[in-house]
Amino acid sequence: MDIKLLLLVVMYQKNLIKNNMESEKENANMKRVSAVNAPGGKIVAYSFVCPGCGYKHTPYIEEGYGPKWGFNGSEELPTFTPSILFRTGDKNGPIVCHSFVTDGRIQFLTDSTHKLAGQTVDLNII
Ligand SMILES: [Zn+2]
Repeated sequence: MDIKLLLLVVMYQKNLIKNNMESEKENANMKRVSAVNAPGGKIVAYSFVCPGCGYKHTPYIEEGYGPKWGFNGSEELPTFTPSILFRTGDKNGPIVCHSFVTDGRIQFLTDSTHKLAGQTVDLNII
């Protein structure tokens, strides 16, 4: 076989492998938030289990459900604006979880009462 032809074949096969890897990556479920649908199917919110407080947070992105957040459209690397302030309590007292979710990471503000206050971590892949 001609060396140029051999090189062409190798390059072609490398390209096939690369394309296969890329499509596998696209097919892999890398979502960090779950869509919440209204009756009829429209997505009105996204939810995730918070790595800081352990509770589920559900920022709404549509009108009519209370506060509404801006959303960048990515379930893999979500951004919600403005910050998410969650308050609840248990037998040990009040729980505050205050965060910014940006590009799939969650930054906990220092008014949060849990161990990740002041830290930024990845949202878990679901
Ligand atoms: Zn939280």
